[in-house]
Amino acid sequence: MPNPNALYRGRFAPSPTGPLHLGSLIAALASFLDARHSGGQWLVRMEDLDPPREQTGAAASILRSLRRHGLHWDDTVLYQSTRGAAYDAALAELTQRGLLFSCDCTRAMLDASGCCSGRCRDRQTDIAGAPHATRAAVPGDCRITFTDRLQGRLDTALGESLADFVVRRKDGLDAYQLAVVVDDAAQGITHVLRGSDLLDSTARQIFLQRQLSYATPAYCHIPVITAHNGQKFSKQNQAPALSDDLAAQNLRHALRFLHQDTPPPTLAGVEQVLAHAIAHWSLSRVPATLAVPAATIGLAT
Ligand code: GLU
Repeated sequence: MPNPNALYRGRFAPSPTGPLHLGSLIAALASFLDARHSGGQWLVRMEDLDPPREQTGAAASILRSLRRHGLHWDDTVLYQSTRGAAYDAALAELTQRGLLFSCDCTRAMLDASGCCSGRCRDRQTDIAGAPHATRAAVPGDCRITFTDRLQGRLDTALGESLADFVVRRKDGLDAYQLAVVVDDAAQGITHVLRGSDLLDSTARQIFLQRQLSYATPAYCHIPVITAHNGQKFSKQNQAPALSDDLAAQNLRHALRFLHQDTPPPTLAGVEQVLAHAIAHWSLSRVPATLAVPAATIGLAT
């Protein structure tokens, strides 16, 4: 049983854009094992704040698959679609501190990294009534340095590379960067373990945590699994859904991808495989790279 006073609270935070696939199972399993091996708690948060990208029934299907794979979570699932008031409060605080500005640029006006390059900051009264995105104003000299538990020390010149990232979109939807920061803090998350495709987002999230006086969790970014064409397995790339009937085998594939100790073949059931995996979990065995092809674990794609 996880210890309710544990100093470790991890989470898996899927977006319900499709069913669980091997790539998302790997992220879920690694964060689960890291939490349980430390006697910690493991939460699930459904990041359902982008209805146009979501698929009907995907949230329920992901939760069903997690259960069938023995990945039982603590507490109740937090749905981001219910959290609008918390995101409003965070935006109000950032606004009060003069850290946000409105931007009515069209996509064509933005630079290659999606920044508005100073076009809007001095036109705030003109923009007020028009449809606009809300952006964080990152000081030009802002650098964010943190040590990822797997990828090591990372230093981002955030003020140079992403001086004004979006926190609320022009269509009125809250941006992932804001919501994830508010919810990691609200849920008391101490450890974030997720795929390396989100490594780029971490500096933005740490920037917001500092502005909102939130604690920064320990971060760990594991490699993503890539198909034969080098693309990451993702719902957008039509990664095949996992069969819940093959849950023990799926867990074994994910453990092989993570270079973990192989559970003996006599351990047939999901719970037995997981008990072995929790006891033998070793983060230092996970390859400290950003991507690993599926073929390395004998999966053809
Ligand atoms: N919802 C994000 C995704 O599915 C993950 C967010 C996170 O782990 O920070 O890619």
